[in-house]
Amino acid sequence: MQLKRLEAYGFKSFADKISIDFDKGITAIVGPNGSGKSNITDAIRWVLGEQNVRNLRGTKAEDIIFTGSASRKALGVAEVSLFFANDGTLPVDFREVVVTRRLYRSGESEFYINRSRCRLKDIYNLFADTGIGHDGMSIIGQNRIDDILNSRPEERRAFFEETAGITKYRNRKRESVRK
Ligand code: ATP
Ligand code: MG
Repeated sequence: MQLKRLEAYGFKSFADKISIDFDKGITAIVGPNGSGKSNITDAIRWVLGEQNVRNLRGTKAEDIIFTGSASRKALGVAEVSLFFANDGTLPVDFREVVVTRRLYRSGESEFYINRSRCRLKDIYNLFADTGIGHDGMSIIGQNRIDDILNSRPEERRAFFEETAGITKYRNRKRESVRK
C-alpha cells in the first residue's frame, strides 16, 4: 500500500493549499527549523484519527488551524486529505482511497472516505490492524525517539512487542487467564 499524495489547506502553517506527491521509494522532506516539516507528519497523523491534540503539539483543537501571520489573516477551517493506492490492505472495494478530515474554528469536525461523509469510527475501522493507524508505529515523532532511547527495559520491550504485533496476543492471553 502506498501513500500517494497529501493535500492540506489551513492546517497549521499551510495557509495556502499544498499538495505533496509521494513517489515510490523513500521521500525526504528537508528545510530549515520551523519551516513545517513536522507539521506534515502532524497532518498525516490527524487524518488518521489522532484525537489527542498534544500529540499534534498543540493544546486545544483549533491550534491546528492556521492562526494567521503578519501578512495573512487567520483561517476558519483546516482540511487535510490523504490519497492511498489500495492494494487490498484497506478493506474497501476501491483502488484509490481518499481520507479527508476537516475542522472548523467553531469546533465542528467532518470526516470523509472517498468524499462520502463518515464518522471518526469508520476511519479507525478502515485502518484497524493495518499498522497505519494514528497510534501505530508507522509514524515515529522526534520526541518518540528520545522516549525510546530513555525508556526502561520493560517499556522498551513493550515497544518491540507492539511493533512485532505481539501485544494483541498478550492482551488476549491476559483476558483468558483472568476468566
Ligand atoms: P524543526 O526542524 O525544528 O523540527 P520543522 O520544519 O519540523 O522544524 P514545524 O514544527 O513543522 O517545523 O513547524 C513549526 C512552525 O509551524 C512554527 O513556525 C509555527 O509557528 C508554525 N505553526 C504551527 N501551528 C500553526 C498554526 N496553527 N498557524 C500558523 N502557524 C503555525
Ligand atoms: Mg520538526
